[in-house]
Amino acid sequence: MKNCLFCKIINKELPSDIVYEDDKIIVFKDIRPKAPIHLLILPKKHIPSVDHLEIPDRDLMGELILTAKVIAEKNNLKGYKLMINVGRDGGQIIDHLHLHLLSGKITEIP
Ligand code: 5GP
Ligand code: ZN
Repeated sequence: MKNCLFCKIINKELPSDIVYEDDKIIVFKDIRPKAPIHLLILPKKHIPSVDHLEIPDRDLMGELILTAKVIAEKNNLKGYKLMINVGRDGGQIIDHLHLHLLSGKITEIP
């Protein structure tokens, strides 16, 4: 999507600190971390929010969560939170679906 900040990061038109990437998913560090570990896990496909999900997206959503699990394992995280904000009233600022992975002391709810 042309004017989407996260699509620009996916397309490497903007820099980010990428920690994982495959053909469908990208994971990078949140620019304003609210915990010692704060990652954003995104589908490369531009889906604006959970409200826009369709039935064929369910495998992709499963893969997002499995990616979180694998990253947590690789980083020996003892525990973590996964969070998705949906819509402005749900705290969503960037309209490209993303899963927050937070670990350690959370300073602010994203
Ligand atoms: P939301 O509130 O939409 O669920 O979360 C958006 C997140 O994206 C926020 O935690 C914010 O700090 C992060 N963010 C906003 N702009 C950028 C950026 O340009 N690069 C990175 N890496 N993260 C960003
Ligand atoms: Zn996008």
